[in-house]
Amino acid sequence: MTASIAFIGLGNMGEPMAANLVAAGHHVTGFDLVPAALEAAATHGVAIAATAAEAVATADVVITMLPSGTHVLEAYRGGGPGGGLLAAAGAGTLFIESSTIAVDDARAAHDLAAEAGHRNIDAPVSGGVIGAIAGTLTFMVGASPADFESARGILETMGGRVVLCGEAGSGQAAKICNNLILGVSMIAVSEAFVLGEKLGLTHQALFDVASAASGQCWALTTNCPVPGPVPASPANRDYQPGFAGALMAKDLGLAVEALHSTGVEAEVGSLAADIYRKFADEGGAGLDFSAIITVIRARSEGAAA
Ligand code: NAD
Repeated sequence: MTASIAFIGLGNMGEPMAANLVAAGHHVTGFDLVPAALEAAATHGVAIAATAAEAVATADVVITMLPSGTHVLEAYRGGGPGGGLLAAAGAGTLFIESSTIAVDDARAAHDLAAEAGHRNIDAPVSGGVIGAIAGTLTFMVGASPADFESARGILETMGGRVVLCGEAGSGQAAKICNNLILGVSMIAVSEAFVLGEKLGLTHQALFDVASAASGQCWALTTNCPVPGPVPASPANRDYQPGFAGALMAKDLGLAVEALHSTGVEAEVGSLAADIYRKFADEGGAGLDFSAIITVIRARSEGAAA
């Protein structure tokens, strides 16, 4: 069934996601603050609105793909000319919030939408720009079962895997828990490779053992931080992302917020967040996060072998 969809935020992710919705036959009206993003979306057949309010006025479904929770809550509430998305949308509109934001912000967005008489689900993604273009994103969804069923077809148009994780906020919770595992495991894999180098072990030898042993993980076998063993990994192309250091730093920052608000003691996760923040601030923001190995190696230079 085709739907009338408003797409707010047509950046690196939003543009290809909106394009896939158009290709599937949906009527998509887009809005972004940046004129170049609007022009790019228009080339895919996205109808362009002059304001966010205009984009959502006749929509059945509103998808947001914005930089942060603050952007999402401000867009929902409005304040500028034309008002916010919630006020401008027709009663009972389904809001799909796909940005990566804090769990608390996702729950606040859900409550605001409910108070305004709308439905809201959080549906953050993994898979990056490549997954967005290919329509193979994984959606992690926090929703009531009924709202999940309403959104499922649209999410499947943009993604290869759609997982209901629980009620409001659960999609964001799953996303940051997964990325906590990912961030920590990439540091562990990188430390092991640098230690192996110091001990005279070849990258291939360590890979051949660990990839088939208990050290096996995605950071090693898919996104291997050294060139050679996995030819498609970013290490083979000067760490062009991939998954940028800035995004890992952002996601682990959200994980740390959640650690604090829940009182969970996660020493390694908190340290990993500090390591990626420093990495992003000191030149790694635009590199794949696996380039963290270059920092570990540089810091180990001159140390006893
Ligand atoms: P981006 O910065 O490329 O795009 C965000 C867009 O939102 C920009 O074009 C910006 O102009 C627009 N925008 C900001 N405020 C707006 C407003 N009030 N109204 C309309 N448009 C507005 O970011 P992105 O890479 O597309 O990421 C979007 C979200 O997806 C982020 O939350 C990010 O963490 C998440 N994410 C990104 C990736 C990735 O690989 N890029 C992967 C997974 C998740």
